[in-house]
This record gives sequence, C-alpha cells and structure tokens, in this order.
Amino acid sequence: MLKGFYPGSFDPLTFGHLDIITRGLSLVNSLVIGVGVSATKKPIFSIDERLEMISEEITTSLPDYADKVEVTVFEGLMVTAAEHHGANVILRGLRNTGDFNYEAQMANINRQTSSPVETVFLAASPEISHISSTQVRQIAQLKGDVSMFCPTSICSKLIAKLN
Ligand code: ADP
Repeated sequence: MLKGFYPGSFDPLTFGHLDIITRGLSLVNSLVIGVGVSATKKPIFSIDERLEMISEEITTSLPDYADKVEVTVFEGLMVTAAEHHGANVILRGLRNTGDFNYEAQMANINRQTSSPVETVFLAASPEISHISSTQVRQIAQLKGDVSMFCPTSICSKLIAKLN
C-alpha cells in the first residue's frame, strides 16, 4: 500500500495542482495533501480557507477519489510531515529548470535526514506547465481573468477576497 504526501502552499489551488493530484492518485493508494505554514510567505488565503477550498474542490472535481484524499496543514520539514502521516512518497510537480534545481536540492536534503520517504517528481503537463499560484495571485490583483488557471469556485473566492 503506497501513501503519498503532496505538500505545497496552494495559495490558491490551481489546475496545475489538480493535475498533479489526479495523476498522483493513479500512482498511490491514498494521498495526503499538506498545506504548508510558511514563516516567510504572506498568503492571500488563510490556512483554514485553503484547507476548505481544497477539500471542496476534491469533492466536486474528483468525487471518486474523495475517500482516498486527506487535506491537512503542516509546519516544518515536508519529509517530517510525510513521515508523521505514514506516507512512503512525497509527490512534487516539475514545471521548469527552476523547479528542478530547487527540488533536486530538497530531495537530497531529505535523503540526508536518513528518511525512508522517497520523492517522486511528475513532469508538469505541457498545456498547464506555465501555471503558478504566484502568477494567479498577481493577475487577479491586477483584475485580470484567472478562469483558465483555477477552478471556478476558487476564482470566485479569489475575486471576492481581493475586492
Ligand atoms: P506554486 O509554486 O505555484 O506557488 P505550490 O508551492 O503550492 O505552488 O506548489 C506545490 C507543488 O505543486 C510543487 O511541487 C509545484 O512544483 C507543483 N506545481 C504547482 N503548479 C504546477 C503546475 N502548473 N504543474 C505541475 N506542478 C505544479
């Protein structure tokens, strides 16, 4: 039985994240989505708002998988959180060389902790590899259309939040 841990900021959840969640679910038996508390990032959505938005979206978009997914908050190292949840693998998405360089370093740091948890990378699907939460936030703040980047319910909450 394989259990995955998919950590991120998810501020907000995008189609890129949903793609990794869907593809990840074909690799593992169950998946814990970990919303990370960051001391440095200033998020638009609170942790509770993100937990709720992700849970709602999983129920709506992936109803067949809902019972295999848990959405939770974590603080500190992702490898520690993965172990805490009994996960065997950490899932991460790779969009570009920037992601690769960062992730390769993180995976090696995880290895040095002697953790048995492996990191599995999924190459971003080409049609959505340009989507990042940072850009979604910036576009929304400039009153641009983000409907091609995020599910409808998330777009509505983003617009409401910024108005
Ligand atoms: P972002 O980097 O967009 O602010 P997160 O920190 O929440 O988002 O990212 C969590 C994980 O999801 C990371 O592994 C990141 O590479 C991956 N990810 C984010 N957007 C995409 C995308 N469009 N395609 C594939 N993976 C993605």
